[in-house]
Amino acid sequence: MSDSLKNFPEPQKGEDLYRYLLERVTTLEDRNTEIREQLRQLEADKRYLETQKVRYEREVRKLKSEIEQMKSPPLVIGTVTDVIDASRVIVRSSAGPRFLVGLSQNIDVEQMKPGARCTLNQQSLAIVEILPSNFDAQVYGMEVVDAPMERYDDIGGLERQVLEIQESVELPLKKPELFKRIGIEPPKGVLLYGPPGTGKTLLAKAVAHETEAHFLRVVGSELVQKYIGEGARLVRELFELAKKKSPSIIFIDEIDAIGASRTESNTSGDREVHRTLMQLLAEMDGFGNRGDVRIIGATNRIDILDRALLRPGRFDRIIEIPLPDVEGRLSILKIHTGGMHLDPSIDLREIAQKTEGRNGADLRAITMEAGMFAIRSDHETVTRDDLLNAIEKFSGELERGTFSGTAGAMFA
Ligand code: ATP
Repeated sequence: MSDSLKNFPEPQKGEDLYRYLLERVTTLEDRNTEIREQLRQLEADKRYLETQKVRYEREVRKLKSEIEQMKSPPLVIGTVTDVIDASRVIVRSSAGPRFLVGLSQNIDVEQMKPGARCTLNQQSLAIVEILPSNFDAQVYGMEVVDAPMERYDDIGGLERQVLEIQESVELPLKKPELFKRIGIEPPKGVLLYGPPGTGKTLLAKAVAHETEAHFLRVVGSELVQKYIGEGARLVRELFELAKKKSPSIIFIDEIDAIGASRTESNTSGDREVHRTLMQLLAEMDGFGNRGDVRIIGATNRIDILDRALLRPGRFDRIIEIPLPDVEGRLSILKIHTGGMHLDPSIDLREIAQKTEGRNGADLRAITMEAGMFAIRSDHETVTRDDLLNAIEKFSGELERGTFSGTAGAMFA
C-alpha cells in the first residue's frame, strides 16, 4: 500500500461513513490517474530507448563494415577485352598486361562486354565486380560547366572566319534541316590553325556561346597518358559524354600533341600517342555528319599534322586564323579599349599601325598595360602616351625574350 493511502486518517467515531468512503475513493482515483500518467511516461521512455538501441545497432554495423573495408586489400581496376565463355574472360589491368581470368558466379555474364570496367582481386586477378560505365573524372573535368561568355562581337578582325565557323558549326546544330533539304553533309570537324594568341580558342568559345551547346574543352597533351590504352579510353569517353550531353561542341586545343604525323619511331610512348590518334579517328568516323556533336580542333603547327586527320569526313573544313592586319588590329584594339576611359585625342588607327606583327593576345596585354600606366600616373583617362609606353615596354620585353607567350597565358 502506498504511503498516501497508509497515511489516510481512520474514520472517526460518529463520522459519516458515506463521506469517509467517498473521500477515500476520490483519493484512490487520483492516485490511479497519477500511476497511469507515470506508466505512460515510462512507456514513452521505453519506446525512445528502443529506437536509440536500433540506431546504435545500425551504427555499430556500419562501423564494423567500414573496419572490414579498411582491412580488405585494394582491388585492381581492369578493362574487359574479350569474353571467352561464361566462366573465363580476358582482362587488361590498368598497369598494362592482359590476363585470362575466372568469372565468379555472382557476376552477370550479360554485363561482360569488351570495354566494361571491372575490379580484380589483387592476388588471383579474378573479377570481383563490374563497375558502372562511369566517365573518368578527367573527362568530366573537360566539360566547361558554365557556358562561355564570349560572343562573336568580342572577336576582332576575323569576320570571314566567323562566317565560316557559323556555317560549319552553328548552322548544322541550329538548322540541320537546311542541309537535309539541299542533300549535303555539313563538315564534321573544323580545324583552326594559325600563330598563337590569334583568337582560335576565343572563336570556339564564341560558337559554343551562340549555339548554347555544351562545351567540352580538352588540350591535346591531356590525352597523352602514361599507361597503355588510357589515352584512347579518354578519347572514347570524351565522345560518349559529348553524345550524352548533345548538342555539344568538342574543342581539342593543341591537337598536334596527338595528331602529329606518325613516324617510323617505335618507342612505346609514340605507340601510345598513335593509339590515341587512331581512337580519335575512329570516333570521328563513328558518328554522322548531321549529328549534334561538332568538333573543333586548333593548332599552331598544321604542317606536322597527320594527313589522316585532314581527310574528308574528319577535319574537313580548315580555317586559317592569321596574325591580324592593320584593320584587324584596329578592331581588336576597339574591342579591348571598349570599356576603358580613353583620351578623346587618341587615334586607335595610329596604335594599330605601330603594332605590326602583334597578335590579339599582345594587343589585349598592351591595352591593359596602358591602363596600368594611367593608374600609376594618376590620370583620369588613358592617354596616347600611356598606349605608346605600353607598346614600347612590350617591344623591349619581346626583344629580351621575357614576354614571349606570357600575354596569351596571362589573359587567355
Ligand atoms: P593558342 O594557340 O596559344 O592557344 P589562341 O589562338 O587560342 O592561342 P586565344 O586564347 O583565343 O588564342 O587568345 C587569347 C586572348 O587574346 C583572348 O582571350 C583574347 O582576349 C585575345 N584575342 C586574341 N585574338 C583576338 C581577336 N581576334 N579579337 C579579340 N581578342 C583577341
